[in-house]
Amino acid sequence: MKITVTTLAALLGVVWAGRAALDSIHFDNPDSNYAWKVHDPQRPSPPVVVPGKENHLPSSDAIVLFDGTDLSAWKGTKNPDQPAQWKVENGYLEVTPDAGAIQTKESFGSCQLHIEWASPALIKGDSQDRGNSGVYFMDRYEVQILDSYENPTYADGQAGAIYSQNPPLVNACRPPGQWQSYDIIFHAPQFKDGKLLRPADITVFHNGVLVQDGWILTGPTAWKQRPPYSPHPDKLPLSLQDHGNPVRFRNIWIRPLNETYEK
Ligand code: MG
Repeated sequence: MKITVTTLAALLGVVWAGRAALDSIHFDNPDSNYAWKVHDPQRPSPPVVVPGKENHLPSSDAIVLFDGTDLSAWKGTKNPDQPAQWKVENGYLEVTPDAGAIQTKESFGSCQLHIEWASPALIKGDSQDRGNSGVYFMDRYEVQILDSYENPTYADGQAGAIYSQNPPLVNACRPPGQWQSYDIIFHAPQFKDGKLLRPADITVFHNGVLVQDGWILTGPTAWKQRPPYSPHPDKLPLSLQDHGNPVRFRNIWIRPLNETYEK
């Protein structure tokens, strides 16, 4: 094909227009939704962290809440002035029935949490009375822990449920006595001037299987009710529930997450 000056000019025009369009896509200005331009060279690179030697072990930036040795990161809720009263032995901690929930001394907001648990090998009780405990974010949003291996109960109260709000997508429970894991991403709710600005959401992997896919919480979790949000501090302790069953825990670590935007 013979390329004339006119054709060449037209081609260059198309290329220029295309490039301009690309620039407008790739270098759009920050707005209320996006803090940075696309491909902004000024955008800070994420910090380097060293992952644990195996995927269940804490990365270099994680806060270890329980490494198998002691409960120094925790306090009891029944007698807050005394050390947490749960049993620690053989690298795990175990709920002491009626000792009350335990909660972290440190407060957290949005976070990534890894926690391993095992319901009692000796089966006692059924439904909600079998291997019941729970992970409470901010002391009020519970991811249910329950022995849900061949143990029928109401769906929004089985293992991996956002208690009273949403059943897990699947039942990924191992048999009683076996160690299981939760890997959870929790985004804390945000309040402004006493009103809810953004609800909390939770993503949960149970033994590596997705069971909660960014569930947006309707408010705190509670038995037989669905209470609305009420404003609370940006950071609060993480709690483990005493439901009267000797559930065991090990290898608990947390990575606080920064909010993308200021309020
Ligand atoms: Mg529970």
